Amino acid sequence: MFEQAVIDSPDFARKGLQMALRVPVAQFTRLQEALKESTGELDFVLSGFVDPQEGTMLRLSIAGQLRLVCQRCLGPVDHSLALNRQFVLYAEENQLGDLAEENPEVDHILGSRNMNVLDLVEEEVLLSLPLFPRHAEAACRLASTEVAATHRPMAGLKELWGR
Ligand SMILES: [Zn+2]
Repeated sequence: MFEQAVIDSPDFARKGLQMALRVPVAQFTRLQEALKESTGELDFVLSGFVDPQEGTMLRLSIAGQLRLVCQRCLGPVDHSLALNRQFVLYAEENQLGDLAEENPEVDHILGSRNMNVLDLVEEEVLLSLPLFPRHAEAACRLASTEVAATHRPMAGLKELWGR
C-alpha cells in the first residue's frame, strides 16, 4: 500500500518537493519488536531543499503515539513522538568520513535515486526510542521499591525478542 513512498532524493531536494503521509504503525515491521500494540498511526512530513553551504538536504518531521512496553511491569506505556531531523545528501559512499566531521548537528545520508522514505522514518523512530521505557513511578503497578530492587530490567526485552 505504501511501497510508492520511494523518492529520487537529490532530485526531491533540488526541486524543493514535499511529501506528507500518515502511515499505520503496523506498517513498520522493524518497529514492532519495541511495541506492546501496533495500534495508531505516524504522521510525517519530508521536505527537500538546497542549503547554500551543505547542498541538497532533506528535512523530516515525525509525529505520533506509540505504545511501548514498560520494562518494569511489562504493561503498555504510551510514548509521544515529535521528531525533527535534517539530512545532508552526499553523493559517494567514501565522502561520509569528511562530511560527518564538519557539522555533527546534521546527519548525512547517501543520496539515492530510489530512497525508501518509510525506511528512513522507521530508522529515525527506532533511534529515538528510550532504551528502557517505563511508567512514571506513580503510574506503574510494580513501582514498590521491593519489586524494583529484584527486577531485572532486561527480562521483558529478552522475552520480547525471543518470540
Ligand atoms: Zn510499569
